[in-house]
Amino acid sequence: WDSPGSRAHEEKILVSVRFRPLNEKEIARHDMSDWECINNTILFKNTLPERSMFPTAYTYDTVFGFNCSTKQVYEDGAKKVALSVVNGINSSVFAYGQTSSGKTYTMSGITEYAIADIYDYIQRHNDREFILKFSAMEIYNESVRDLLSTDSTPLRLLDDPERGTVVERLSEETLRDWSHLKELLSICEAQRQIGETSLNEMSSRSHQILRLTVESSARQFLGAEGSSTLMASVSFVDLAGSERASQTLSAGARLKEGSHINRSLLTLGTVIRKLSKGKNGHVPYRDSKLTRILQNSLGGNARTAIICTVSPARSHVEQSRNTLLFASCAK
Ligand code: ADP
Ligand code: MG
Repeated sequence: WDSPGSRAHEEKILVSVRFRPLNEKEIARHDMSDWECINNTILFKNTLPERSMFPTAYTYDTVFGFNCSTKQVYEDGAKKVALSVVNGINSSVFAYGQTSSGKTYTMSGITEYAIADIYDYIQRHNDREFILKFSAMEIYNESVRDLLSTDSTPLRLLDDPERGTVVERLSEETLRDWSHLKELLSICEAQRQIGETSLNEMSSRSHQILRLTVESSARQFLGAEGSSTLMASVSFVDLAGSERASQTLSAGARLKEGSHINRSLLTLGTVIRKLSKGKNGHVPYRDSKLTRILQNSLGGNARTAIICTVSPARSHVEQSRNTLLFASCAK
């Protein structure tokens, strides 16, 4: 039974899976791949007895094998969702997966392709006037930091009756042109590294949200009637390593970090599962900073694309399987 409502809903959450290639180290130690991608199905080929309880076939909206380019991932896995922002529809694009599976590699490409396409759209629609605003933040230990500012004081979340959850004092830059965007992206990257001994340690524990807000209104000379101002945002989210959601961490600070990251990732998982089921029940957006900030980009009329990144290596098979199960539940 497929009501029109449920079909409309299906389009709201697009789930795809991307395999990265084996890297040189993995090849050197003969860490083979047990996975094969055929159309939108992933097959687990390993016949080792201890693996026998694994499902052997997984099907998603789209599956990208290790030889697919990021451009292809963008075109088939994120473009429609990201570009809905020009029509006033909020959206978010996520990369979910274990550390080293290719989240940052995938998201940074997708972010640039999407913003380039948004610029292209604007150029072809000069009956409207567009303003693009860019902001960037990082959530680490349930603490929100502005990635466009050198001030690392944690930012507070406020509830605005009209706009929902807003991040107090978050910098927002009006984009002048493409080179301005590139400049802002490199500031974010530099900010992410400050005070950290290892970028990989940091990025495995923190969530990064890059947000582009698109405002548009009909140009006056067309004499448009009434208010036709549209405003929406698209969020590009590079999540903390998903191993954080399943790992039991030792003690002290590590445990605190772990449990916070658990909270955001686990809450996101719960929120997405609830939304994908399309039930009207309580959605626990307020249980984590990540889901509070993204509430308007997830629920309601919003569109979501989730790209689950997976390592093909045999040594990562448990985490790969966890990621595929997350992807299955998101659908
Ligand atoms: P994550 O952000 O999930 O920790 P990264 O994006 O940093 O992972 O990727 C780990 C390494 O693998 C990087 O050196 C990256 O350049 C490389 N990599 C990831 N995905 C691909 C891909 N699809 N093709 C080629 N190299 C990739
Ligand atoms: Mg990363």
